[in-house]
Amino acid sequence: MAGLGEQLDRDLDKIRDAGLWRELREIESVQSTRITFGGREFINFSSNDYLGLAAHPALGQAAVEAIERFAVGSGASRLICGSLQPHHELETALAKWQEAEAALVFSTGFAAAQGVLTSLLGQGDILILDKKSHASMIDAAKLSDATLRVFRHNDLEHLEKLLQWAGAQGGRVLVATESVFSMDGDRAPLAGIVELKERYGAWLMLDEAHAAGLYGPLGQGLAAADGLAARIEIRMGTLGKAVGAAGGFICGSRQLIELLVNKARSFIFSTAPSPAVSVAARVGVELIKGEEGKSLRQQLWQRVDELKGGVESLCWETSEEPSAILPLIVGGEDKAVAAMEHLREVGFFIPAIRYPTVPRNEARLRVTLTANHTTEDINQLVNALGQAVTR
Ligand code: PMP
Repeated sequence: MAGLGEQLDRDLDKIRDAGLWRELREIESVQSTRITFGGREFINFSSNDYLGLAAHPALGQAAVEAIERFAVGSGASRLICGSLQPHHELETALAKWQEAEAALVFSTGFAAAQGVLTSLLGQGDILILDKKSHASMIDAAKLSDATLRVFRHNDLEHLEKLLQWAGAQGGRVLVATESVFSMDGDRAPLAGIVELKERYGAWLMLDEAHAAGLYGPLGQGLAAADGLAARIEIRMGTLGKAVGAAGGFICGSRQLIELLVNKARSFIFSTAPSPAVSVAARVGVELIKGEEGKSLRQQLWQRVDELKGGVESLCWETSEEPSAILPLIVGGEDKAVAAMEHLREVGFFIPAIRYPTVPRNEARLRVTLTANHTTEDINQLVNALGQAVTR
């Protein structure tokens, strides 16, 4: 057998040959609408820091104070001796914000999805996932031993067929989807999904990773905006996008949270988040709920409107529903990379998203906006896009 180095070189060559090479770049600045790497500044249209809270002074100040009080490390998993006051305070704040009985914080959103799906489902149960669901749910499905069925993206008729089939199998049935999809920024038809899962006696898990902070009267997410939150058994979010910190959370009934504390392996066997990060996340949630959050959301939607108008003038189709994620589908992987590189040369940082994150030949520039972008940033971007992408 060839040595490890030789085998890995072959694997790496395959990735290169397929045009799918990825590498890390070292960002030298704080997270904002401007980022610096390689000594050069770029206008950043790639962050999920939708409300600009990642570098907000209130979060930084709270984290510094938390470090002075609780130091840096949490020392152990939550069930050993790592369940610190900031974690509990954050969970209380999350449950209140989301109008849920209880909430549980995980070290990442990825871990939250894994924890909840593997705790609720096992052999003989069925998980029905939207085709465009995030990798965290797909991987959790594999880990859970449940039977996985996938419905065509946002297709209620297909979902209903799968629910009819699943109902006859005898196990638990859980439908899982995102509220705002991470790669396209489009929305799940939530009212229809809720109606169907109720009709067929299934449960629903909703991943609000790209919606929490942005929609609803207090920025709770799309379920709250659509008045459906109380009818969704399991709601998930991350603390690393609009909330401006890091981590993930599940909220729902008291029994659901108690079950997770007892069964979710990604919670039980993992060191608790740093207390400073949990304090920062709590301050992020408070900001989102208050007047500042409201005006940041207004600012964001204004920028989204401006960019929509700009890219429509370049003959790109855009969605009717506002989203901070605007996919510009370019087609082939090479074409998307060429556009990304051109934009990089003229000072814009926008990632090309390629297979396997999206299907082949649907490579795209994924533009994300934040409340801190200015109208001038948008105008400059629209000009550059006109030159970077031949349509
Ligand atoms: N769900 C979705 C839809 C996501 O986009 C992400 C992050 N990219 C996650 C879950 C995972 O969240 P986290 O980054 O907190 O692990």
